[in-house]
Amino acid sequence: MDNDWGHCQHCKFFDSLARIPLPTEEAHCKHPELSKYKLVVFGASGCSGFQLRPGLRPEVEQPPEQAMEASA
Ligand code: SF4
Repeated sequence: MDNDWGHCQHCKFFDSLARIPLPTEEAHCKHPELSKYKLVVFGASGCSGFQLRPGLRPEVEQPPEQAMEASA
């Protein structure tokens, strides 16, 4: 797995139909190495297998002050 920790709600393996899932949403984890465990995770959870969900900007995983600098 990668060493890029991130939140499930921003992860491409979070099996949600929402374009931008919420922290309180629950969905299966479809990560190739984890899907065998049939995990159901919250959007606010996370792990080092994180990969950015298509359509989201990398800044969503930065602390607010860093995201402000990135967009300035
Ligand atoms: S548990 Fe890890 S791989 Fe699975 S959806 Fe959450 S961040 Fe992505």
